[in-house]
Amino acid sequence: MATLKNRSRREQTYNLPHDAYCSDGQCRCVPVTQHFVHHDAAAGVSGVAAREKNLSASIIFLSGETKDDLPETILKCPDISGAIKRRELVKVD
Ligand SMILES: [Zn+2]
Repeated sequence: MATLKNRSRREQTYNLPHDAYCSDGQCRCVPVTQHFVHHDAAAGVSGVAAREKNLSASIIFLSGETKDDLPETILKCPDISGAIKRRELVKVD
């Protein structure tokens, strides 16, 4: 598990893409239902259809906030590793 602290004075939001964040085999994406208009040309009718989709997760750090018990795979997410390089986020042990 990882612990991260937001050192910046701003609230920060980071994207946690599936390829990195769920790379330990545990999908933490957010399921959403997408509705769209479907036109059946053969039958000449239109209707609303639904499609299940997973959206990548995201995380919000308030100014100065520390979050613990984060999966280690969070460190592989480009937004997070970039923020650590910029010293915006620090790893707390
Ligand atoms: Zn996922």
